[in-house]
Amino acid sequence: MTFDKAVVADIERAAIHDGPGIRTTVFFKGCPLNCAWCHNPECKQKEPQEMFYPEKCIGCGMCKEGCFSGARIICGREMTAEEIFEQILEDKAYYFSDGGVTFSGGEPLIYPEVIKELIKKCKAENINTAAETSLALFDDELLGQLDLVMADFKIFDSEKHKKYTGITNDAIKKNFLKLDKLDVPFLVRTPIIPGVNDSIEEITEIRDYIKGFKNIIGYELLPYHPLGIAKQKALGLEEIRFKVPTKEKMEELRKYADLYR
Ligand code: SF4
Ligand code: SF4
Repeated sequence: MTFDKAVVADIERAAIHDGPGIRTTVFFKGCPLNCAWCHNPECKQKEPQEMFYPEKCIGCGMCKEGCFSGARIICGREMTAEEIFEQILEDKAYYFSDGGVTFSGGEPLIYPEVIKELIKKCKAENINTAAETSLALFDDELLGQLDLVMADFKIFDSEKHKKYTGITNDAIKKNFLKLDKLDVPFLVRTPIIPGVNDSIEEITEIRDYIKGFKNIIGYELLPYHPLGIAKQKALGLEEIRFKVPTKEKMEELRKYADLYR
């Protein structure tokens, strides 16, 4: 694949959970992490993958010709920045003053050239740009041009981070320091996974690391959601399931996520 193309898993329109306002979210395929709880397991691998949903199969036997019931799909297609931008532009009327586009995944920073081109095109059309990133990768030119960065800080201890995500967080911690030097507002987010990082000590350690940053605009805790389970099955992967944190647990932890505490 050339640098001017990216593999896109999906483009979600009218998204309301991927940043401020109404947004178009572009889910890129490929991620340097391998989180056990990943809600987008179809975005871990860069290459297009087949997904099979047996409950939608009508047994027509036409698989070779192409599945029309949506039971067997190929997730991921190579797209240029121009092709992606065409779809972003179609939604422009819905962005109003605070919406825009969010680059997500997977890890959008694995396609720096495509994203930089998209940011340039969005700026020319006055469209707000945001990215959701693990910060395992860093590109100051790219990140510095965004209107908002939403970065995950999943686990404080580096070895524990490796156990659950496949990599240590040493580079991620350094990248937070570098991010704060850019003139870009950023949100820090921790997915709360019961049995992994749902302790007061964990949240306090992360909060204390990030609270002095000058460009941070918030620290959010997001409850684990078993959205990825059906997709794990469709990909033929081992089913990994966690408990959903209770409302009370989330409320308790959020008290410790207060940056002004
Ligand atoms: S084409 Fe689709 S619906 Fe028909 S048998 Fe194949 S998977 Fe099932
Ligand atoms: S960083 Fe995000 S996309 Fe990548 S494996 Fe973890 S949860 Fe999935």
